[in-house]
Amino acid sequence: MRIDLHVHSSVSDGTDSPTRLVVAAREAGLDVIALCDHDTFDGLVEATTAGQQIGVEVLAGVELSTRYQGKSVHLLGYGCDPRHPELSTEMKRLRASRAGRLEKYLQSLAELGMPLTADEVMTQVGLSPSLGRPHIADAMVAKGYVKDRDEAFGLYLSEGGPAYVRRYATDLREAIAMVRRAKGVPVVAHPWGRGNRDRLSEDVIESLAADGLDGIEVDHTDHDARDRERLARLSERTGLIHTGGSDYHGTGKPNNPLGINTTSLSAYREILRRIAERGGVLPS
Ligand code: AMP
Ligand code: FE
Ligand code: FE
Ligand code: ZN
Repeated sequence: MRIDLHVHSSVSDGTDSPTRLVVAAREAGLDVIALCDHDTFDGLVEATTAGQQIGVEVLAGVELSTRYQGKSVHLLGYGCDPRHPELSTEMKRLRASRAGRLEKYLQSLAELGMPLTADEVMTQVGLSPSLGRPHIADAMVAKGYVKDRDEAFGLYLSEGGPAYVRRYATDLREAIAMVRRAKGVPVVAHPWGRGNRDRLSEDVIESLAADGLDGIEVDHTDHDARDRERLARLSERTGLIHTGGSDYHGTGKPNNPLGINTTSLSAYREILRRIAERGGVLPS
């Protein structure tokens, strides 16, 4: 069984539609994927339907924007009830802050000599309800300011970069509790990834485990072999479920092909067992 528990579609900042994503997963030899678009569940119905037709199991997921002591942390939630009122309201707030920062980005990019219009960015956003920096990066590429997303982030858009604009994110502990109340299974995405300005310490992760965190994404492209070993040992010591995923974004992240990192069958079964126990959403 090949299980990739972290993939994105064009419903957030990936480049494949949910259907195309499922086709690509099949072609990559995957049996299970978890669609984890940023701050939205909107791709799940299409992905699940395509999965049933094409023969790929689709686990309902989401990647929530959270913050811990000023650090941006991405929290994966598996099997959440998509209609849970509290979580829905919070995700709406996150999406509003994503869209609400656009004007500030246009301003800071204009000051850097790279004028863009809101329309030029919205063309890249398309029908996605979750405006992301990668869409702004794509608009910069279309204007010829940078060659690809990676360059846009490297030079301008990364946290702390010259064009960076902060936005609202849920407190990490609150987000963990909220995912649990929505009957889901919270797992910290790429805890020591490049995207994290400062790493979450082992002590902090251990205390999060005591407060309801279920797992950590050990196997991720942003982690080198040494970090993976340390995180794997941490997961064993704390009982956190050890997961892995590609963080596939289609052509948006060429170094993250589908299935480059995977989750073991036993870890996946444990996630499903906890979702079932909590009354959350299992793959159909
Ligand atoms: P936002 O959701 O607006 O905070 O933007 C964060 C997203 O940007 C992440 O989820 C990644 O998909 C993407 N990202 C971050 N760094 C890079 C990079 N160097 N190249 C391409 N995409 C990136
Ligand atoms: Fe992303
Ligand atoms: Fe992430
Ligand atoms: Zn992701």
